[in-house]
Amino acid sequence: MSRALITGITGQDGSFLAEQLLAAGWEVIGLHRRSASPNHWRLAHLRGLVLDSADLLDQGSLIDALRRHRPDHVYNLAAQSFVPTSWRQPVLTGEVTALGCARMLEAIRLVNPEIRFYQAGSSEMFGLSGADGQGEGAPFHPRSPYGVAKVYAHHLTVNYRESYGIFAVGGILFNHESERRGEEFVTRKLAIAAAEAKLGRRDGVGLGRLDVRRDWGFAGDYTRAMHLMLCQDDAQDFVVATGEAWSVQDFAERAFGCVGLDWRDHVRHDPDQLRPAEIPCLRGDATRARHALGWAPALSFDQLVERMVRAEVDRVSAGRQGH
Ligand code: NAP
Repeated sequence: MSRALITGITGQDGSFLAEQLLAAGWEVIGLHRRSASPNHWRLAHLRGLVLDSADLLDQGSLIDALRRHRPDHVYNLAAQSFVPTSWRQPVLTGEVTALGCARMLEAIRLVNPEIRFYQAGSSEMFGLSGADGQGEGAPFHPRSPYGVAKVYAHHLTVNYRESYGIFAVGGILFNHESERRGEEFVTRKLAIAAAEAKLGRRDGVGLGRLDVRRDWGFAGDYTRAMHLMLCQDDAQDFVVATGEAWSVQDFAERAFGCVGLDWRDHVRHDPDQLRPAEIPCLRGDATRARHALGWAPALSFDQLVERMVRAEVDRVSAGRQGH
C-alpha cells in the first residue's frame, strides 16, 4: 500500500485530497497543528485517516513526522492562505507559507529524498503579470504578501528539484471552492448570505470590489490534479484552471438567483473590505494539464455555485452551525 502525508489536512483541500486518496486505497496521514478547540469538521466523514500533529513553523516536528510515517508522497497544503490576512500579518504569512515549504523540503532532503513532493502554488503568484490566460510560462508579479510567499515556495520547490533531484512539483492552482471553503472567502460568504436571506435569517452581506474576475473551479476537481502530478514519470509544474473568468458580481447574481432572490437587494458595498492592491482579473490556461495529466474539471461555474448554495440551505434549514 502506498502512503501519502498531507499538511493542512484540516483545510478545504486537505479533506478532498484525503477522501480521494483513501478511496483509491492509499494510506493517508494528515498533519494538523495544535488547536485549543477542535477544527476537524471537514474530516468527520473520513474513515481510516491517520492524524498526527506537526507545525510548519517547527522544523523538528516535520522531520519527526517523516521519520515516523515514511510516506511516498508529501502534499504541502498548509499555509496562511487568506490574502487579506497576509497584509495584516505579512511576517507570519512568510513564516508559514514561504518558509514552511522550505522546512518541509529540508525535512525531505534529510530524511528521504525519494519522497515525491507537491507544493500548493497559487494563481496569486501571477498577480499583475499582464497575460490573459496564464500558463506555466507566464511571469510572476504577486500583489500581496501571500502571493510573494507563494512565489518563494514555488521557486524553492523548483530549486530543490534542480539541485537535489527531488521529485518536487509546484501546482499553480487557480481559485477553487466548495461548501468546505473557509467562511471568510467571498464565494462561501455569498453562498451563506444567499441561504440565510432565503430562510429569513439575515438581510445582507458587505463586500469589497464586485468587478474583479477570477477563474473559479470546484476544489474536488483540483485535488485530483495534485495526485496526478505526483504520479507522472517526470516532475513538472502545472497550471490548473477552468480557463473561464467570472466576476464577484456574476457569483452573487447566481448565488441569490439559486434561491429566487435578486442579489442587488442583499449585497452592499463595504469599503473596509477593499485590498491595498488588487488583481483585476485572473484566468488560467491549463492546456498542459489537460494533455499531460488527462485532467479536466467536472463541475461548471453554474454547478459550483448551485452546489455551494444548496449545501448552505440544507445546513441552515437543519439548524447546523457554520464553520
Ligand atoms: P485552507 O482551507 O485555508 O487550509 C489551510 C491549512 O493550513 C489548514 O489546515 C491550516 O490549519 C493549515 N495551517 C496553517 N498554518 C499552519 C501551520 N503553521 N502549521 C501547520 N498547518 C498550518 O486552504 P485550502 O483552500 O485548503 O488550500 C490548500 C492550499 O492550497 C493552501 O496552501 C492554499 O494557499 C493553496 N491554494 C488554495 C487555493 C484555493 O482557491 N483554495 C488556490 C491556490 C492555492 P488550521 O485549520 O489549524 O488553521
